[in-house]
Formats: sequence, C-alpha cells, structure tokens
Amino acid sequence: MNDELAMPYFLTHEETTKESYRAMVEATVKAILDAIADDRAYGGKSPQELQALIERPTLLPPAGLGFDQVLQELESVILPNFLRTTSTDYLAHLHSPALLESICSELIISTFNQSMDSWDQSPIATEVELQVTRFLCSLYGYPMESDGIFTSGGSQSNLSGLTLARDWYCSKALKHDVKKLGLPPSYSKLRIYTSEVSHFSMEKSAHLLGLGYDAVRKVPVDKECRMDSEALEALILLDKEAGLLPFCVVATLGTTDYGSIDPVHALSAICKRHKLWLHADAAYGSGVQLSTQYAHRLGPIAECDSITVDFHKMFLLPISCGAFLVRDGKNLEAFSLHADYLNREEDEEDGYTNLVGKSMQTTRRFDALKVWVSFLVRGQDGYASIIDTCIENAAYLYGQLKKNSAFEVAIEPEISSVVFRLQATCEVNKKVRRLLLHSKGVVIGQTVYENKTFLKFTLLNPLLTHDKLDELLLLIEELGKEIMG
Ligand SMILES: *Cc1c(COP(=O)(O)O)cnc(C)c1O
Repeated sequence: MNDELAMPYFLTHEETTKESYRAMVEATVKAILDAIADDRAYGGKSPQELQALIERPTLLPPAGLGFDQVLQELESVILPNFLRTTSTDYLAHLHSPALLESICSELIISTFNQSMDSWDQSPIATEVELQVTRFLCSLYGYPMESDGIFTSGGSQSNLSGLTLARDWYCSKALKHDVKKLGLPPSYSKLRIYTSEVSHFSMEKSAHLLGLGYDAVRKVPVDKECRMDSEALEALILLDKEAGLLPFCVVATLGTTDYGSIDPVHALSAICKRHKLWLHADAAYGSGVQLSTQYAHRLGPIAECDSITVDFHKMFLLPISCGAFLVRDGKNLEAFSLHADYLNREEDEEDGYTNLVGKSMQTTRRFDALKVWVSFLVRGQDGYASIIDTCIENAAYLYGQLKKNSAFEVAIEPEISSVVFRLQATCEVNKKVRRLLLHSKGVVIGQTVYENKTFLKFTLLNPLLTHDKLDELLLLIEELGKEIMG
C-alpha cells in the first residue's frame, strides 16, 4: 500500500487519523510561514505570468499525487503569489487582514463542518448563532422583538433588506402577498431611494427582486458625499405625484469609496412621514459602533428597520462573515418555508430552532463562531483600539495631504478611507497605481471622483503608522515625478 492510500479520509476518534490531521495541519502551517518571507503586499507577477505558472496538463490526474506533493506545488507556485492582506502595503479595498484567533476559528469551522440550516445539523452552533445575533441586536440598540441572521456578506444582507422592505410594503400598502402571489400588478411603479454613491448591490438586488435597475432612484449627495435629505424628500414627493410607489430608503453608513455616512436621523423622519422602510447599509460603518470615541458618527442607527453588518471589513474577520438585523423580527418570515425532511414545524414547537427559516441560504457556514471568538478574545477595549487607530490614521493622512501641494483630496474622511490624487493627469495617477502593484509590492485603490481618476487608501490595518503613511505618500510623489519625466 502506498502513502496516498494510507492517508485517511477524515479526522475521527482513531489515533491514526488524529496523527494524520496533526501532521497535515502542521505541514500546512509551516508552508504558510515559509511563504511570508518579506513584508510586501504582492510579489508583482502579471496575469500572464501567473497563468503560465499554474499551467498543467490536467487537474484530475489518473492517480492522485498525494498530499505531500500537492503541498509542494502549493509552496512553489500558489503561496508565494498570494496577496498578503496583513501587509501595511495593502490599502486597496474594504478587504481586511484576518485576526489570528479568527484563523483558528476557521480551522474549527471547517473541521467540524456544521451546517446552519437545521438544529440537528448544528446543535451548539445554532445556539451560538442565536446568542451572537441577540447580542448584535442589542449592540446596535434594537428592541427585544428584533432578530437577525448571518449572511455571506453585505450584498446578501442588502438583498435581504430590500426583499423584506418590498414584501412589507406590498402587504401593508397594497394588501398583496408577494411571497404567495409574486409581484403585484403595479410592480413597475415600486421605487427604492439611495444615494448616488451607494453600493452597486442596490441595483443588483433590484434586478433580482424583479424590479429592475430603473427602480433605484439615485439621490444627490452633498460635498461630503452624504445623501442630501431635502433632495430625497423632494424626489419622493415628485414620484408620488407621478403615481409611483416609493417603498424603501437605503442609508449608506460608510460608503465604499469615501466612508461617508448618510444622515440617519433626517432620513428616518422622512421614512416615518411617508411610511417607507429604512434600511441601513452599514457593511463598512458597522465596525464604528465598537469605537468608544467615534460611534456617535453613525447616528441613531437603531431607527433603521434593518441593518447590514459586515464582519469581513472593519472587524477584521476572515471572509465570509456578515449579518442582517431586523428591528421587528417578524419580518424575517419572508424567508420561512417548511420542508418535511428539514425543518418540521413540530421541532420548533419543542424548542429546536431551525435557522433555515430566517435565511436565504440553505446549507450555511458557522461564521457566527468567528464573531463569538474574536469579541471574547479582544473585548470592547481591543476592538475600540483597532477601530480608533484606523479612523485616526485616516484623519492624519488627510491632514498630510492637505498640507502638500503635490496632492488634491476629495473629501474629509469620516471613517478610514481617503480619496486623493496627484495634481497631475488621470493617466499619471493610473500609472502610479499600476507601478506600485507590479514593481513596489504596494496595492492601493483607484476610483473616480468628479470625473477625475483618484487614488484611494482604505485603512483597515491597525498596524499602519503615521511614518508608514508618510513613506507611502513620498513614494507616490516620486513615482509621479518619474512618470512625468
Ligand atoms: C462591501 C460593501 C457591500 C458589499 O458587501 P460584501 O460583503 O462585499 O458583499 C455593500 N455595501 C457597502 C457600503 C460596502 O462597502
């Protein structure tokens, strides 16, 4: 019998399988540690170079290669070319490094492979997710009747929010049961309001919900990229006069590019006046709630009917990890449906929760464990210090950019993203970003503001220091000069 055949399938109670598990995990850990030889964010290879590197005759060899050989290939071609999110040279997106203890959580999650659909697939995991969800509802100031569910991230949470909003409005205002009957005859008149710098999952959701992109009304923003609440109300009134059916406003608490925060209080008053659902897309800003100094910047978030929380952004947990919270938990009924083989009604009467009844997904990861572990490990202080550092770094960077005539800044940051550009052509700015990526191992963001190419630093890494930020600005200035000759 060769080694491959000797390799067990699973980790079981048998000692031999435990030894294999330990050996494989240890070898993997060693390979990971060896791959991190310097502090760059990226090795610099182009798409073509990477394609050539992973080229092979087949992905399904007639006989298995065995773990050791495959690990060697991982070590030689894959691991060295990973983007390293923990590097302070990685500042491109709302894409965070993963806290150490959360990597341990991931190992536990995949080792035990619980599925969150029914209690008999995830007994303790179900109870932990329920506990974490209740805690999150209280963290965001929600009342007793609130509820929530873990999701794959912000996009799914936003789709959930818009689904509940549509069903609620159709039931209440049109006396129409969407869940049973599908869209009402007047569906093409339904309108969602969100700012012109909101996340594209609004349009995607509108499409999936059968309403289409045109159902999303883009409300202008002020100079700080926050939704203009007067413009919102004017648009709602205009649309109502035209016979349209406004049903939902989405406040972005932390826009993807600028981190700007829509005025929740004003939007909430408008929603009350016009009987609209208010959803908070706090995929980015939800982390600010853990700051002792800056949490107030989010405004009265508990006034929103539903909230998108993303843990794979400011909370520094591995992908994927998100939650969707609802102020009146009854609205989650939108996702309930009984299957004889899965979530029998009699189970629920006896106290067994089958979480599938609140979720869009069926088979679902135990992502709530990562929140449970990291919240306990870091505590309020630990998280506040992470979030405050990122917010303060952004304020520092903004100050440095304002002082330097080589640069221009879009807006003053409210959270931890800074959008700026070299006072040069768009081409020069674009070239700087490419050069950083392929020859300096530095990965930064790029966007468009007022029709011009801007660069972006998204500061989610608490290891970033003021000195490091100064160094990066200097590098960008020098590259700009080099390009311009
Ligand atoms: C990141 C982001 C999303 C999408 O979240 P995913 O977890 O990537 O699906 C939605 N809204 C905002 C404001 C975001 O920044």
